[in-house]
Amino acid sequence: MASDNRKQAVSARVERWVRTDVQALKAYHVPAIEEHVIKLDAMENPYHWPSAMQQAWLDALQQIHVNRYPDADCSQLKQAFREAFHVAEDYELLFGNGSDELIQLLAMAVAGPKRTILAPEPSFVMYKMIAQFLQMNYVGIPLGTDFSLDVSAMLKSIETHNPALIFLAQPNNPTGNVFGEEKIRRIIEATSGLVVIDEAYTAFSSSDGYSLLADYSNVVIMRTLSKVGLAGLRLGYLIGHPGWLEEVNKLRLPYNINVLTQASTAFALRLVDELFKQTAQICADRELLKERLSAFDNLHVWPSEANFLLCRTLEHDAAEIQRLLLARGVLIKSLHGSHPLLNNCLRITVGTPNENEVLLRELAALLAS
Ligand SMILES: *Cc1c(COP(=O)(O)O)cnc(C)c1O
Repeated sequence: MASDNRKQAVSARVERWVRTDVQALKAYHVPAIEEHVIKLDAMENPYHWPSAMQQAWLDALQQIHVNRYPDADCSQLKQAFREAFHVAEDYELLFGNGSDELIQLLAMAVAGPKRTILAPEPSFVMYKMIAQFLQMNYVGIPLGTDFSLDVSAMLKSIETHNPALIFLAQPNNPTGNVFGEEKIRRIIEATSGLVVIDEAYTAFSSSDGYSLLADYSNVVIMRTLSKVGLAGLRLGYLIGHPGWLEEVNKLRLPYNINVLTQASTAFALRLVDELFKQTAQICADRELLKERLSAFDNLHVWPSEANFLLCRTLEHDAAEIQRLLLARGVLIKSLHGSHPLLNNCLRITVGTPNENEVLLRELAALLAS
């Protein structure tokens, strides 16, 4: 058939021209969202906006003209961020289509065949993926068995590989812990490269790397609105010395933040206290959920400063528990097989009190059998 011939012809051309390392990659897998499933797999904020806020937002969107390109510099949004998050004039801001895009831009700015990205492992998978996309050298240094940062191994690796870029997620995903400022300072002081403090979960933690900017010339702070309740808008931001951000900005595609995201984010920042109320609720519910999960004697639960809890099944196959739980209507993430330190580990995003109750009920049934 003609279409079969065409398919083969396409394959041949793809094989001929697409980078072989790209052909060997697997696409980042996101499970299809089924309706009525309780979604506790992706660290989303489970709460909708109060209806008055929802209406005010829709009113604000009526002023938007989608026939025009967005403000390429996001100047109004920048001002709103400076005020909402108390960013000093000494520092520049740079927005990305999620912090994922910022990781990519930072890596592009330093990329080269002999350039290294260093990160502890397990951590956020995008650091390694983007290093691969850019054909960079990637070095992952295992965390300790308690998920603490192995500073001496990191320092050794810094000496060996002289990394251009180091990513430290604080709190870390998927382990939920913080590495601690003292250790982070030792890393920053040991490297000539740029250290990115990835604070995706800063709203759920007391850790805050902002003050590191005043002490060091090789630090940028990366944050996102995804985990505080705006995942669908895709907005991440860097705070850093203008010298670094001006270079990264050259690689940004001109209109990476669309008009709806710019307007919606600016609107949300005016009502940011509403979001902080929700994150405070999530933190309180995280502690309740942790206590309840810890009561299962065949489950180990780690402390967390993020909006999720990492658990290990002690008598069950975690991947199987994840599948059975989904069949019962609750989606969580199995990390089994992703790293040796995460054998039989599950990551559970904190939901609403009701969602957490359903999770506990269904999990109890599975862990009892
Ligand atoms: C979720 C996450 C991000 C990416 O978030 P975006 O939605 O792309 O802004 C970055 N770093 C860590 C550690 C994360 O967990």
